[in-house]
Amino acid sequence: MATSLNIQGTVIPYEERKNSRSKRLSLRIGRDKVRVTAPCKATKREIREFVEANQDWILAHWVKIQEELLNIPKRQYQDGEALSVLGQSLELKIMKTNQKTMRLRYLKEEKKIEIRLPEGIALENQNEATREILGQWLKRKAREVFQTKLDQVSAQMGVSYKAFRLKEQKTRWGSCSSKGNINLNWRVILAPEQVIDYLIIHELAHLKHMNHSPSFWDVVGQYCSDYDVCRHWLKVNGDRLTL
Ligand SMILES: [Zn+2]
Repeated sequence: MATSLNIQGTVIPYEERKNSRSKRLSLRIGRDKVRVTAPCKATKREIREFVEANQDWILAHWVKIQEELLNIPKRQYQDGEALSVLGQSLELKIMKTNQKTMRLRYLKEEKKIEIRLPEGIALENQNEATREILGQWLKRKAREVFQTKLDQVSAQMGVSYKAFRLKEQKTRWGSCSSKGNINLNWRVILAPEQVIDYLIIHELAHLKHMNHSPSFWDVVGQYCSDYDVCRHWLKVNGDRLTL
């Protein structure tokens, strides 16, 4: 059932779901709606009272998420702009040269990414070209960083995966198949390092438990004590992790 809530004048899209596996009422504040999941036996009245009892909390979280969404700065790909990679802020240095090809150099010590564009490039193509070359570089970087981490962490956890592939997906950060193939979304390279570590631990933990059961989270927790902070970070900031 899809409808909306009105909490102190703020209209919030609302959805109710019954789930035979849920034992109690639960609430989830998403980016586009608030969802209540109820056990099958829950009455309309119980659900209404539950929502009413939690309305201050719902409103506060809804407003916070909406504000965060509005604050996503649009990238301009201009000289001097900052890009966060592995949690480190790097400055884009964009310059024109008389060479015909584009080039990107990562200046590690100076924390800069230098991008050289051909002089003759039309203004309207400049942003797209910069985005393109940055994307290629970030994917290479992601492949290298993820691979290294997968090897280190899998050894620590005593698991072995079969293959690793870099993916580009809108909403999925990673996955692990029953055959032991791990996919990771390159966009996570734009997240802080602890979030990347969490994701890698999460996918490798699936080699021990192919589900999200309490035993699965126990394994994750052994190697990543602040996993809930990282999960939350991804939920809230995932949309920013893009070029
Ligand atoms: Zn999972």
